[in-house]
Amino acid sequence: MKYHCEICSYIYDSNKGDPGKDITVGTNLDDLPSSGICPLCGVGKENFYQLNENASVPSGDLEEDLAP
Ligand SMILES: [Zn+2]
Repeated sequence: MKYHCEICSYIYDSNKGDPGKDITVGTNLDDLPSSGICPLCGVGKENFYQLNENASVPSGDLEEDLAP
């Protein structure tokens, strides 16, 4: 699952964790400490919201438009 920082647009991906902060792969936002989550701006989890990966922008059509 991915979470988006509304302050600086940093994306935390629980499938990758955050090696720089000793956050292991598979750690969900709920399991993180309540503050200082964002490595860029330092806000807590209250400033993160969950990305709906199923609703991501379809890439196929866009790539076709960009092709010469
Ligand atoms: Zn941030």
